[in-house]
Amino acid sequence: MSADLRLSDHEKALYSRQMRLPGVGEAGQLRLREAKVLLLGAGGLGSPVGLYLAAAGVGLIGIADPDKVEVSNLHRQIIHGFDTLGLPKTVSAAESLGEINPGLKVALHPEGFTVENAAELVSRYDVVIDGTDNFATRFLAADACVLGRRPLVHGSVLRGTGQVGVFLPGAGCYRCLYPVIPDAASVPTCADAGVFGATCGVIGSWMASEAIAVVLGRRRQSRLCVVDVEAGSSRPLAILPDPACPCCGASATIRTLDKTAYAPVVCAPPSPVMSATPLEISVEEASRLLAGPNPPVLLDVREPDEYAVCRIEGSRLIPMNTVPTRLAEIPADAWVLVQCHHGGRSMRVTQFLRSKGFARVTNLQGGIDAWSLKVDPKVPRY
Ligand SMILES: [Zn+2]
Repeated sequence: MSADLRLSDHEKALYSRQMRLPGVGEAGQLRLREAKVLLLGAGGLGSPVGLYLAAAGVGLIGIADPDKVEVSNLHRQIIHGFDTLGLPKTVSAAESLGEINPGLKVALHPEGFTVENAAELVSRYDVVIDGTDNFATRFLAADACVLGRRPLVHGSVLRGTGQVGVFLPGAGCYRCLYPVIPDAASVPTCADAGVFGATCGVIGSWMASEAIAVVLGRRRQSRLCVVDVEAGSSRPLAILPDPACPCCGASATIRTLDKTAYAPVVCAPPSPVMSATPLEISVEEASRLLAGPNPPVLLDVREPDEYAVCRIEGSRLIPMNTVPTRLAEIPADAWVLVQCHHGGRSMRVTQFLRSKGFARVTNLQGGIDAWSLKVDPKVPRY
Protein backbone atom coordinates (compact mmCIF):
# COMPACT_ATOMS: atom_id res chain seq x y z
CA MET A 1 0.00 0.00 0.00
CA SER A 2 1.55 3.30 -1.07
CA ALA A 3 1.65 6.26 1.25
CA ASP A 4 -1.19 8.11 -0.46
CA LEU A 5 -3.41 5.07 -0.01
CA ARG A 6 -2.96 5.25 3.74
CA LEU A 7 -4.27 7.64 6.33
CA SER A 8 -1.85 9.97 8.03
CA ASP A 9 -1.57 9.90 11.82
CA HIS A 10 -3.39 13.21 11.87
CA GLU A 11 -6.28 11.74 9.87
CA LYS A 12 -6.39 8.67 12.11
CA ALA A 13 -6.71 10.91 15.15
CA LEU A 14 -9.28 13.14 13.46
CA TYR A 15 -11.57 10.30 12.39
CA SER A 16 -10.90 7.78 15.15
CA ARG A 17 -14.45 7.87 16.52
CA GLN A 18 -16.10 7.03 13.22
CA MET A 19 -13.40 4.62 12.06
CA ARG A 20 -14.16 2.35 14.99
CA LEU A 21 -17.71 1.88 13.70
CA PRO A 22 -18.37 -1.55 12.19
CA GLY A 23 -17.78 -1.47 8.44
CA VAL A 24 -15.76 1.76 8.42
CA GLY A 25 -12.18 1.28 9.60
CA GLU A 26 -9.25 2.64 7.62
CA ALA A 27 -10.64 1.23 4.36
CA GLY A 28 -13.93 3.06 4.82
CA GLN A 29 -12.21 6.27 5.78
CA LEU A 30 -10.10 6.04 2.64
CA ARG A 31 -13.26 5.57 0.57
CA LEU A 32 -14.65 8.74 2.09
CA ARG A 33 -11.40 10.57 1.30
CA GLU A 34 -11.59 9.41 -2.31
CA ALA A 35 -15.26 10.32 -2.66
CA LYS A 36 -16.43 13.14 -4.92
CA VAL A 37 -19.83 14.40 -3.85
CA LEU A 38 -21.96 16.97 -5.65
CA LEU A 39 -24.22 19.04 -3.42
CA LEU A 40 -27.13 20.76 -5.13
CA GLY A 41 -28.20 23.73 -3.06
CA ALA A 42 -26.29 25.30 -0.16
CA GLY A 43 -29.49 26.14 1.69
CA GLY A 44 -31.46 24.74 4.61
CA LEU A 45 -30.71 21.12 3.72
CA GLY A 46 -27.36 21.67 2.02
CA SER A 47 -26.00 23.37 5.15
CA PRO A 48 -26.03 20.33 7.44
CA VAL A 49 -25.23 18.00 4.54
CA GLY A 50 -22.11 19.99 3.62
CA LEU A 51 -20.95 20.51 7.19
CA TYR A 52 -21.30 16.85 8.16
CA LEU A 53 -19.74 15.51 4.97
CA ALA A 54 -16.79 17.85 5.37
CA ALA A 55 -16.39 16.82 9.00
CA ALA A 56 -16.63 13.14 8.04
CA GLY A 57 -13.64 13.45 5.73
CA VAL A 58 -15.24 13.38 2.28
CA GLY A 59 -12.44 14.35 -0.12
CA LEU A 60 -14.18 16.60 -2.64
CA ILE A 61 -17.46 18.45 -2.30
CA GLY A 62 -18.89 20.30 -5.29
CA ILE A 63 -21.43 22.98 -4.45
CA ALA A 64 -23.95 24.10 -7.09
CA ASP A 65 -26.05 27.09 -6.08
CA PRO A 66 -26.74 30.27 -8.06
CA ASP A 67 -28.09 32.33 -5.12
CA LYS A 68 -26.60 34.89 -2.76
CA VAL A 69 -26.91 34.80 1.03
CA GLU A 70 -29.93 36.77 2.27
CA VAL A 71 -30.91 37.63 5.81
CA SER A 72 -34.08 35.49 5.65
CA ASN A 73 -31.87 32.44 4.97
CA LEU A 74 -29.91 32.59 8.18
CA HIS A 75 -32.41 30.99 10.60
CA ARG A 76 -32.03 27.68 8.81
CA GLN A 77 -29.02 27.88 6.47
CA ILE A 78 -26.42 27.51 9.20
CA ILE A 79 -23.49 27.17 6.82
CA HIS A 80 -23.80 30.95 6.22
CA GLY A 81 -23.55 33.83 8.67
CA PHE A 82 -24.04 37.57 8.98
CA ASP A 83 -20.48 38.10 7.78
CA THR A 84 -21.26 36.51 4.41
CA LEU A 85 -24.55 38.30 3.69
CA GLY A 86 -24.69 39.22 0.02
CA LEU A 87 -21.95 36.80 -1.03
CA PRO A 88 -22.63 33.92 -3.42
CA LYS A 89 -23.75 30.93 -1.37
CA THR A 90 -21.07 28.79 -2.99
CA VAL A 91 -18.34 31.12 -1.68
CA SER A 92 -19.90 31.46 1.76
CA ALA A 93 -20.39 27.69 2.10
CA ALA A 94 -16.86 26.93 0.93
CA GLU A 95 -15.48 29.21 3.67
CA SER A 96 -17.39 27.34 6.37
CA LEU A 97 -16.43 23.93 5.02
CA GLY A 98 -12.77 24.92 4.88
CA GLU A 99 -12.89 25.86 8.55
CA ILE A 100 -14.30 22.48 9.47
CA ASN A 101 -11.88 20.52 7.32
CA PRO A 102 -8.85 22.36 5.93
CA GLY A 103 -7.89 19.30 3.86
CA LEU A 104 -11.17 19.31 1.97
CA LYS A 105 -11.27 20.15 -1.74
CA VAL A 106 -14.26 22.27 -2.71
CA ALA A 107 -15.43 22.92 -6.27
CA LEU A 108 -17.77 25.86 -6.79
CA HIS A 109 -20.53 25.84 -9.37
CA PRO A 110 -22.10 29.29 -8.92
CA GLU A 111 -24.04 28.91 -12.16
CA GLY A 112 -26.18 26.34 -10.30
CA PHE A 113 -27.42 23.01 -11.60
CA THR A 114 -29.00 23.59 -15.01
CA VAL A 115 -30.22 21.57 -17.97
CA GLU A 116 -27.09 22.73 -19.78
CA ASN A 117 -24.53 21.55 -17.22
CA ALA A 118 -26.42 18.73 -15.42
CA ALA A 119 -25.08 15.74 -17.37
CA GLU A 120 -21.49 16.97 -17.31
CA LEU A 121 -21.56 17.84 -13.61
CA VAL A 122 -23.11 14.51 -12.63
CA SER A 123 -20.45 12.62 -14.61
CA ARG A 124 -17.70 14.29 -12.56
CA TYR A 125 -18.97 13.10 -9.19
CA ASP A 126 -19.65 9.76 -7.49
CA VAL A 127 -22.80 10.75 -5.60
CA VAL A 128 -25.31 13.57 -6.09
CA ILE A 129 -27.14 15.08 -3.13
CA ASP A 130 -30.20 17.15 -3.89
CA GLY A 131 -31.14 19.74 -1.33
CA THR A 132 -32.84 22.12 -3.74
CA ASP A 133 -36.26 23.56 -3.13
CA ASN A 134 -38.03 23.42 -6.47
CA PHE A 135 -39.50 20.65 -8.52
CA ALA A 136 -37.79 21.53 -11.79
CA THR A 137 -34.31 21.05 -10.34
CA ARG A 138 -35.40 18.05 -8.30
CA PHE A 139 -36.61 16.19 -11.37
CA LEU A 140 -33.62 17.37 -13.38
CA ALA A 141 -31.30 15.93 -10.73
CA ALA A 142 -33.27 12.69 -10.63
CA ASP A 143 -33.23 12.25 -14.39
CA ALA A 144 -29.58 13.27 -14.76
CA CYS A 145 -28.61 10.67 -12.14
CA VAL A 146 -30.54 7.90 -13.91
CA LEU A 147 -29.02 8.81 -17.29
CA GLY A 148 -25.54 9.21 -15.78
CA ARG A 149 -25.91 6.11 -13.56
CA ARG A 150 -25.09 7.90 -10.32
CA PRO A 151 -26.71 7.38 -6.92
CA LEU A 152 -28.91 10.24 -5.78
CA VAL A 153 -29.65 11.25 -2.20
CA HIS A 154 -32.73 13.40 -2.10
CA GLY A 155 -34.27 15.47 0.65
CA SER A 156 -37.17 17.85 1.05
CA VAL A 157 -38.87 19.67 3.89
CA LEU A 158 -42.32 21.12 4.25
CA ARG A 159 -43.36 22.69 7.55
CA GLY A 160 -42.73 20.01 10.19
CA THR A 161 -42.32 17.10 7.78
CA GLY A 162 -39.70 15.91 5.37
CA GLN A 163 -38.48 13.15 3.12
CA VAL A 164 -35.12 11.51 2.66
CA GLY A 165 -34.65 9.34 -0.40
CA VAL A 166 -31.83 7.19 -1.70
CA PHE A 167 -32.08 6.21 -5.34
CA LEU A 168 -29.48 3.77 -6.61
CA PRO A 169 -28.82 3.12 -10.32
CA GLY A 170 -31.07 0.33 -11.57
CA ALA A 171 -32.87 -0.01 -8.24
CA GLY A 172 -35.75 2.41 -8.66
CA CYS A 173 -35.59 6.15 -9.27
CA TYR A 174 -37.41 9.27 -8.12
CA ARG A 175 -39.78 9.02 -11.09
CA CYS A 176 -40.70 5.44 -10.16
CA LEU A 177 -42.32 7.18 -7.21
CA TYR A 178 -43.33 10.51 -8.74
CA PRO A 179 -43.68 10.04 -12.52
CA VAL A 180 -44.55 13.63 -13.43
CA ILE A 181 -43.43 17.06 -12.29
CA PRO A 182 -46.22 18.62 -10.22
CA ASP A 183 -47.38 22.17 -10.77
CA ALA A 184 -45.22 24.48 -8.70
CA ALA A 185 -48.45 26.01 -7.41
CA SER A 186 -49.84 22.70 -6.15
CA VAL A 187 -47.30 22.28 -3.36
CA PRO A 188 -46.19 25.11 -1.09
CA THR A 189 -42.50 25.93 -0.61
CA CYS A 190 -40.54 27.13 2.42
CA ALA A 191 -41.08 30.70 1.26
CA ASP A 192 -44.82 30.48 1.73
CA ALA A 193 -45.37 27.52 4.07
CA GLY A 194 -42.69 28.35 6.63
CA VAL A 195 -40.14 26.01 8.16
CA PHE A 196 -38.12 25.59 11.35
CA GLY A 197 -34.36 25.56 10.86
CA ALA A 198 -34.10 22.56 13.15
CA THR A 199 -36.40 20.56 10.87
CA CYS A 200 -33.99 21.22 8.00
CA GLY A 201 -31.27 20.07 10.39
CA VAL A 202 -33.01 16.75 10.99
CA ILE A 203 -33.57 16.03 7.31
CA GLY A 204 -30.20 17.40 6.15
CA SER A 205 -28.30 15.38 8.76
CA TRP A 206 -30.22 12.31 7.70
CA MET A 207 -29.27 13.00 4.08
CA ALA A 208 -25.61 13.28 5.08
CA SER A 209 -25.85 9.90 6.86
CA GLU A 210 -27.33 8.33 3.74
CA ALA A 211 -24.67 9.87 1.51
CA ILE A 212 -21.94 8.45 3.76
CA ALA A 213 -23.66 5.06 3.69
CA VAL A 214 -23.77 5.18 -0.12
CA VAL A 215 -20.07 6.05 -0.32
CA LEU A 216 -19.26 3.19 2.05
CA GLY A 217 -21.29 0.80 -0.12
CA ARG A 218 -23.84 0.13 2.59
CA ARG A 219 -26.98 0.74 0.55
CA ARG A 220 -28.32 -1.97 -1.74
CA GLN A 221 -31.87 -0.75 -2.28
CA SER A 222 -33.59 2.48 -3.19
CA ARG A 223 -35.81 3.76 -0.41
CA LEU A 224 -37.66 6.79 0.85
CA CYS A 225 -38.17 7.75 4.48
CA VAL A 226 -41.10 10.00 5.28
CA VAL A 227 -40.33 11.92 8.47
CA ASP A 228 -42.82 13.80 10.61
CA VAL A 229 -40.92 15.76 13.22
CA GLU A 230 -44.12 17.08 14.81
CA ALA A 231 -45.52 13.60 15.29
CA GLY A 232 -42.12 12.13 16.16
CA SER A 233 -42.37 9.45 13.51
CA SER A 234 -40.56 8.19 10.45
CA ARG A 235 -41.66 5.62 7.95
CA PRO A 236 -39.40 3.83 5.47
CA LEU A 237 -40.81 3.02 2.08
CA ALA A 238 -38.91 0.46 -0.01
CA ILE A 239 -38.83 1.51 -3.65
CA LEU A 240 -38.90 -1.02 -6.43
CA PRO A 241 -38.11 -0.20 -10.06
CA ASP A 242 -41.37 0.55 -11.86
CA PRO A 243 -41.35 -1.18 -15.28
CA ALA A 244 -43.54 1.68 -16.55
CA CYS A 245 -41.25 4.43 -15.17
CA PRO A 246 -40.79 7.21 -17.77
CA CYS A 247 -37.10 7.53 -16.85
CA CYS A 248 -35.73 4.09 -15.86
CA GLY A 249 -38.46 1.75 -17.21
CA ALA A 250 -38.12 -0.57 -20.19
CA SER A 251 -39.94 1.88 -22.48
CA ALA A 252 -38.57 5.03 -20.89
CA THR A 253 -39.39 8.24 -22.74
CA ILE A 254 -36.75 10.37 -21.01
CA ARG A 255 -33.57 9.67 -22.96
CA THR A 256 -31.92 13.07 -22.79
CA LEU A 257 -32.27 16.19 -20.64
CA ASP A 258 -34.61 18.34 -22.68
CA LYS A 259 -34.72 22.00 -21.68
CA THR A 260 -38.46 22.25 -22.24
CA ALA A 261 -39.15 19.48 -19.74
CA TYR A 262 -37.88 21.38 -16.70
CA ALA A 263 -39.68 24.65 -16.16
CA PRO A 264 -37.30 27.13 -14.48
CA VAL A 265 -39.50 27.79 -11.45
CA VAL A 266 -37.59 28.63 -8.29
CA CYS A 267 -39.52 28.95 -5.05
CA ALA A 268 -42.86 29.92 -6.59
CA PRO A 269 -44.53 32.84 -4.85
CA PRO A 270 -47.58 32.14 -2.72
CA SER A 271 -50.45 31.20 -4.96
CA PRO A 272 -54.12 31.84 -4.23
CA VAL A 273 -54.90 28.31 -5.40
CA MET A 274 -52.17 26.78 -3.25
CA SER A 275 -53.32 23.67 -1.48
CA ALA A 276 -53.56 23.82 2.31
CA THR A 277 -54.58 20.18 2.30
CA PRO A 278 -52.06 17.90 4.04
CA LEU A 279 -50.08 15.56 1.80
CA GLU A 280 -50.62 12.65 4.18
CA ILE A 281 -52.77 11.89 7.20
CA SER A 282 -52.76 8.99 9.64
CA VAL A 283 -55.38 6.28 9.66
CA GLU A 284 -56.65 7.52 13.04
CA GLU A 285 -57.15 11.02 11.62
CA ALA A 286 -58.80 9.55 8.52
CA SER A 287 -61.14 7.47 10.64
CA ARG A 288 -62.24 10.60 12.53
CA LEU A 289 -62.77 12.54 9.29
CA LEU A 290 -64.65 9.73 7.54
CA ALA A 291 -67.05 9.52 10.48
CA GLY A 292 -67.51 13.32 10.53
CA PRO A 293 -70.09 15.56 8.89
CA ASN A 294 -68.07 16.29 5.72
CA PRO A 295 -66.14 13.11 4.98
CA PRO A 296 -63.55 13.10 2.19
CA VAL A 297 -64.07 10.92 -0.85
CA LEU A 298 -62.09 7.72 -0.22
CA LEU A 299 -60.33 6.54 -3.37
CA ASP A 300 -58.92 3.00 -3.31
CA VAL A 301 -56.21 2.59 -5.98
CA ARG A 302 -55.43 -1.09 -5.43
CA GLU A 303 -56.21 -3.87 -7.91
CA PRO A 304 -59.69 -5.47 -8.05
CA ASP A 305 -58.42 -8.75 -6.55
CA GLU A 306 -57.07 -6.86 -3.56
CA TYR A 307 -60.32 -4.95 -3.25
CA ALA A 308 -62.15 -8.29 -3.16
CA VAL A 309 -60.07 -9.35 -0.13
CA CYS A 310 -60.88 -6.30 1.97
CA ARG A 311 -61.98 -2.71 1.69
CA ILE A 312 -62.74 0.30 3.81
CA GLU A 313 -66.47 0.95 3.93
CA GLY A 314 -67.52 3.57 1.39
CA SER A 315 -64.32 3.50 -0.68
CA ARG A 316 -64.39 3.88 -4.45
CA LEU A 317 -62.11 1.61 -6.52
CA ILE A 318 -60.03 3.08 -9.33
CA PRO A 319 -56.85 0.98 -9.75
CA MET A 320 -53.69 3.07 -10.02
CA ASN A 321 -52.91 2.27 -13.64
CA THR A 322 -56.40 3.36 -14.74
CA VAL A 323 -56.34 6.70 -12.88
CA PRO A 324 -54.91 8.75 -15.79
CA THR A 325 -57.80 7.73 -18.06
CA ARG A 326 -60.51 8.03 -15.39
CA LEU A 327 -59.84 11.51 -14.03
CA ALA A 328 -63.40 12.56 -14.87
CA GLU A 329 -64.68 10.12 -12.23
CA ILE A 330 -62.75 11.89 -9.48
CA PRO A 331 -64.55 14.93 -8.07
CA ALA A 332 -62.37 18.00 -8.59
CA ASP A 333 -64.09 20.06 -5.89
CA ALA A 334 -64.10 17.50 -3.07
CA TRP A 335 -61.38 16.46 -0.64
CA VAL A 336 -60.04 13.14 -1.94
CA LEU A 337 -58.30 10.69 0.36
CA VAL A 338 -56.24 8.15 -1.59
CA GLN A 339 -55.60 4.71 -0.17
CA CYS A 340 -53.81 1.52 -1.22
CA HIS A 341 -52.26 -1.44 0.62
CA HIS A 342 -49.31 0.21 2.42
CA GLY A 343 -49.37 3.83 1.25
CA GLY A 344 -46.82 3.74 -1.59
CA ARG A 345 -49.05 3.53 -4.65
CA SER A 346 -51.53 5.96 -3.11
CA MET A 347 -48.74 8.50 -2.55
CA ARG A 348 -47.88 8.31 -6.24
CA VAL A 349 -51.52 8.82 -7.17
CA THR A 350 -51.77 11.70 -4.68
CA GLN A 351 -48.82 13.44 -6.33
CA PHE A 352 -50.16 12.66 -9.79
CA LEU A 353 -53.62 14.08 -9.04
CA ARG A 354 -52.10 17.22 -7.53
CA SER A 355 -50.03 17.65 -10.68
CA LYS A 356 -53.26 17.45 -12.67
CA GLY A 357 -54.79 20.32 -10.71
CA PHE A 358 -56.64 18.40 -7.97
CA ALA A 359 -55.56 20.60 -5.09
CA ARG A 360 -57.35 18.78 -2.28
CA VAL A 361 -55.81 15.32 -2.39
CA THR A 362 -54.30 13.53 0.58
CA ASN A 363 -52.55 10.21 0.99
CA LEU A 364 -53.66 7.72 3.65
CA GLN A 365 -50.47 6.90 5.53
CA GLY A 366 -49.83 3.16 5.84
CA GLY A 367 -52.82 2.22 3.66
CA ILE A 368 -55.47 -0.35 4.49
CA ASP A 369 -52.90 -2.42 6.37
CA ALA A 370 -52.42 0.35 8.93
CA TRP A 371 -56.20 0.81 8.99
CA SER A 372 -56.61 -2.84 9.90
CA LEU A 373 -53.90 -2.67 12.58
CA LYS A 374 -54.92 0.61 14.19
CA VAL A 375 -58.56 1.35 13.37
CA ASP A 376 -60.59 -1.70 12.42
CA PRO A 377 -59.17 -5.18 13.12
CA LYS A 378 -62.19 -6.71 11.38
CA VAL A 379 -60.66 -5.65 8.05
CA PRO A 380 -58.54 -8.69 7.01
CA ARG A 381 -54.80 -8.19 6.41
CA TYR A 382 -53.04 -9.78 3.46
ZN1 LIG B 1 -37.65 5.02 -12.36
